[in-house]
Amino acid sequence: MVMTVGILALQGDYNQHKRVLDILGTNNIYVRHKQDMKLCDALIIPGGESTTISKQIDNNNLRKPIIEFSKNNIVFGTCAGMIMLSSSSKSNNLTPLGLMDFSVSRNAWGRQINSFSDDLDLEFDNIRFHAVFIRAPKVSRMGKDLKVLATYNNKPVMVTDGHHFVCSFHPEIGSDF
Ligand code: GLN
Repeated sequence: MVMTVGILALQGDYNQHKRVLDILGTNNIYVRHKQDMKLCDALIIPGGESTTISKQIDNNNLRKPIIEFSKNNIVFGTCAGMIMLSSSSKSNNLTPLGLMDFSVSRNAWGRQINSFSDDLDLEFDNIRFHAVFIRAPKVSRMGKDLKVLATYNNKPVMVTDGHHFVCSFHPEIGSDF
């Protein structure tokens, strides 16, 4: 069976994810409507601006369908996507999906001007991974059943609950694949 990965294409760097999946030979489609999700086995929520992604999810009536989809399928969130998967408190312009039990502090790795890239430790491989951080969220609270997959300066920057995955950095930018 061929697996299809959906990439939420409302705002952000969804085209970078497509580029990587195409290079890897992974079947993928852009997701903009709930019908698109019927064709997917997993979903990527990309980096971008979480307030805009949150609004666009609601404008496109995708909130419930994504939450339903996440019950039986893997969702992977990078940067703004990580914010969307979190259970951080809601503010007037941002309502996270609450798919995983952790909270973040937005832009806590630095503002746009302090964007950086550096090598970090992966728990599941011996290589040092070169990661790009752009106004990245920092984990401020971790649920007890979460597992840290990568750290930077001893802080979790990639986390799973055994089902979904999130990372503060942009694995789709760069050439580590
Ligand atoms: N700072 C952005 C936000 O709060 C996330 C940045 C990113 O996705 N690179 O949504």
